[in-house]
Amino acid sequence: MIIKGIARYYQDKGKHIITSCIEHPAVLHTCQVLEKQGFEVSYIGVDEEGKIKLEELVNAIRKDTILISIMFANNEIGTIQPIEAISEIAKKHDIIFHTDAVQACGNVPIDVQKMGIDALSLSGHKLYAPKGIGALYVRNGIEFERFMDGGHQERNKRAGTENVAGIVGLGKACELANQNLQSHTEHLKDLREHFILQVQEKIPEAKLNGARENRLPGNANFSFPSIEGEALLFKLDEKGICASSGSACTSGSTAPSHVLTAIGLPSEFAKGTLRITFGEENTKEDVDYLVAELVKIVKES
Ligand SMILES: *Cc1c(COP(=O)(O)O)cnc(C)c1O
Repeated sequence: MIIKGIARYYQDKGKHIITSCIEHPAVLHTCQVLEKQGFEVSYIGVDEEGKIKLEELVNAIRKDTILISIMFANNEIGTIQPIEAISEIAKKHDIIFHTDAVQACGNVPIDVQKMGIDALSLSGHKLYAPKGIGALYVRNGIEFERFMDGGHQERNKRAGTENVAGIVGLGKACELANQNLQSHTEHLKDLREHFILQVQEKIPEAKLNGARENRLPGNANFSFPSIEGEALLFKLDEKGICASSGSACTSGSTAPSHVLTAIGLPSEFAKGTLRITFGEENTKEDVDYLVAELVKIVKES
């Protein structure tokens, strides 16, 4: 809605968009469609921790750049981007800055004013709201073309009668997330650190992907050399453990994800990648059970 909307509204000013090569398909595929429609897109690379290369971003800026869209935090490897540095660069060049904050909302404090964010998208089900509802923040003064035609709901920006139950659910979820942010993130961080330290101790050949510091509190992502990720998932599933080999949105594919490729992970590692995401209801006992089963599976492989 926002990427296409901004592209179409500001196309007379320019047809160049900058994003990163580790975005979620929600952004990547949208940019690819825009490329087919005459827009040009620069995909900025990341370092081995998954952090955007700021110099490359600056160098990619052109006179006709109308939008920078960089995700707040990565869904696969959990890396949190230097959002304020990116927004400063965008502001300096008078370019609109949008961030896909779907992973960050509810897990990281966000202040669109302080951080200089012009547009932000979030999805309800990632912060315990119902599925099928999300929110888009757009700073006053920024325009975008509507992506569907019909009634004049939502200030003429999104046709169709609103999903009131979903909206109320999202509002409540945001209220709770805001109230509990500190205890929630501390709980997730404790679980994550407990998990990471135990894996590093018991499976020393495992490689932790993503940033060590600027990382989503509940995200852990490990690669195990010469292990097939899918097989690992099946075996964990048999033990009642739900995990992912990479992105939940591209599961079913055995090729290493675009994110693992972008951080330069060698293919013997990339194939055996496991993404574990902890949630509110998980406990330390869950982590111990997970580690015990994981160690057994890896040693048997
Ligand atoms: C889940 C996710 C999306 C897509 O949101 P849905 O509402 O599930 O389609 C977009 N970006 C990121 C970073 C995500 O994690």
